[in-house]
Amino acid sequence: MSSPTPTATPTAKSSSATPTLSFRNVTKDFATGTRALTGVSLDISRGEFVSVVGPSGCGKSTLLRLAAGLDDVTYGTLNVDADVTSFVFQDPTLLEWRSAQKNVELVGELAGVSAEERRRRAKETLDLVGLTGFENQHPRELSGGMRMRVSIARAIVAEPQLALFDEPFGALDEITRLKMQTELQRIFQMKAFAALFITHSISEAVYLSSRVIVMSGRPGEVVDDIELPWSYPRPPELRYEPEFGRIAGHLSQALEAHS
Ligand code: ADP
Repeated sequence: MSSPTPTATPTAKSSSATPTLSFRNVTKDFATGTRALTGVSLDISRGEFVSVVGPSGCGKSTLLRLAAGLDDVTYGTLNVDADVTSFVFQDPTLLEWRSAQKNVELVGELAGVSAEERRRRAKETLDLVGLTGFENQHPRELSGGMRMRVSIARAIVAEPQLALFDEPFGALDEITRLKMQTELQRIFQMKAFAALFITHSISEAVYLSSRVIVMSGRPGEVVDDIELPWSYPRPPELRYEPEFGRIAGHLSQALEAHS
């Protein structure tokens, strides 16, 4: 059997007709011989928040790295229709010697935005993530949740069309994690980027997402793809609704069946 032609690193172009992120029958093989992903097709458009859940080692981070252009697909095609793509990782990766404000301003500095404009945008974005009054604090003076807020501010200050999240709340305590989820879906509603969100938490995926993708064990393939019925913003109490529990249960079973 002949293999499809290897192709496609992400290309940056702009058109509202095409999905912001599009995987078409993507397979990823590593040089070690590990096949991490097989036949993955997935489109994400602006205003869609898509979470990916799956067992450890099923290729979730690989999917994200491909979307970020940090690695190439082996077979299939991948297109990114975004001028600005941003990332949020579990580790906020802030510069310790810069204040919260200066960490967020860094994005504008690197892009050559004028000092006045980047100050204005950084302040506005820190206000948006609930850090008014903490602009001049350094990372060590902030709680884990606050550092993650700075990380999110840094990711959205450049108005990305595509935002990639790799288990951003995985290291936070439960209460902070729930608060951050509430904040993130509020920000998502305002900014309407296309979001690809990797998580181990089914309830986090259900609360945040417009769609949840379930991947099988390695090599990862999409085995379930469900749309969530609720609009944004979503109240925290949604988590206690019977429908929420029913959908989380369905995803849990799908995950178990394919692990
Ligand atoms: P997940 O994020 O779902 O835990 P990963 O995408 O990190 O899974 O990894 C998928 C599989 O690919 C794993 O078996 C992992 O060991 C392997 N893998 C990931 N990155 C590399 C690499 N750079 N070289 C070789 N194998 C890798």
